[in-house]
Amino acid sequence: MNSASTNLERKIKELSLLHYKAITILERCRGCGTCVKFCPLNIRKFNEVGKAITISSVRDCGGCSVCYHRCPNKAVELIQLQKINK
Ligand code: SF4
Ligand code: SF4
Repeated sequence: MNSASTNLERKIKELSLLHYKAITILERCRGCGTCVKFCPLNIRKFNEVGKAITISSVRDCGGCSVCYHRCPNKAVELIQLQKINK
C-alpha cells in the first residue's frame, strides 16, 4: 500500500472518531427559528420556553456548522468531541 492511501486511511479513521455538539447559549437565543429551519438533520428544536436546542438523542449532530453560521445572535457554539476508541 502506498503512503498516500495509508495517510488517507489514517485520516478517515481519525474523522470517524470525531463527533460534534451544537450548544445554544440560551440567553442569546431570540427564538428566531433559523437554526431549526436549516439544520439538515432536523435536530434543532424549540424547548418549552421557545429557545432552540439540539436534540441529540434523535441523531448525532453532523457538525455541518449551519446553525453556528446562520444564527444572527451568535447563540450557537459548536464543539468537537473525541469518541472513546473501544
Ligand atoms: S451543526 Fe449542522 S447538524 Fe449539527 S445541529 Fe447544527 S445545523 Fe444541525
Ligand atoms: S438561529 Fe440562533 S437565535 Fe435563532 S433560534 Fe437558532 S439559536 Fe436561537
